[in-house]
Amino acid sequence: MPTSKNIFYLNKESNFALSLPVGWEVVYENHYGEFPFFEPVRIVGPQGIKTKPYITIVTVFGGGTNNPLEYMEEAEREFRKLFMNFRLDSKNVHNIFLFPSAWMIFTYQNEAGFRKELNVSIFFVVRINESKILELRFQFICETDEQQADKDFTDFERIINSLQIGAAGIRLPQLTLAGVKSCLFCDKPFTDGEKPNAMINLKSHRLISICDKCKDKPENQPIDVLSDL
Ligand SMILES: [Zn+2]
Repeated sequence: MPTSKNIFYLNKESNFALSLPVGWEVVYENHYGEFPFFEPVRIVGPQGIKTKPYITIVTVFGGGTNNPLEYMEEAEREFRKLFMNFRLDSKNVHNIFLFPSAWMIFTYQNEAGFRKELNVSIFFVVRINESKILELRFQFICETDEQQADKDFTDFERIINSLQIGAAGIRLPQLTLAGVKSCLFCDKPFTDGEKPNAMINLKSHRLISICDKCKDKPENQPIDVLSDL
């Protein structure tokens, strides 16, 4: 349940927004990892019994399955190799904006003790053209200490469920579509040197190219729903 105390967080680079509970803040934004990895944001929550919970959002292009059940089986095998005393607590598939998402909860041990993670991956699969599709995994990596997991997991789920994507779609800052001559929204031809914005449009299930002016229109961005309360 959003309250007026929540903080509206807008990521302009990727055109999505989150509603953050009091005490949560941004650690860093728009970290360009090695392609095809991109980290739109990392946020951290208030100090708990032992540590601060945090969420890192990571986006990854292609490279693997976009079937959530297969994805979770592969991830589980990887995590068993990576983490000491790995235990899978649950795995589920839910739809988010009519796209499938994989929800995994697991526990493992590191120097700091027992850690608990909620790992949620939304699989945005859209058409580029008649013959090509684009797969984007939009992933929330939520971590905390096992001792304070009950409280922090409530915040994790609340933040994930608050995800809003602007009407134009998710912007992919690493990508420009080749050969696109004009903006899909206003038909204005792209000039030399202009970088069209590549957007995953959730309504049409297509990868589209739009100009900066259309991208920046308020109706194409996520809205601060809380300010209307
Ligand atoms: Zn335009």
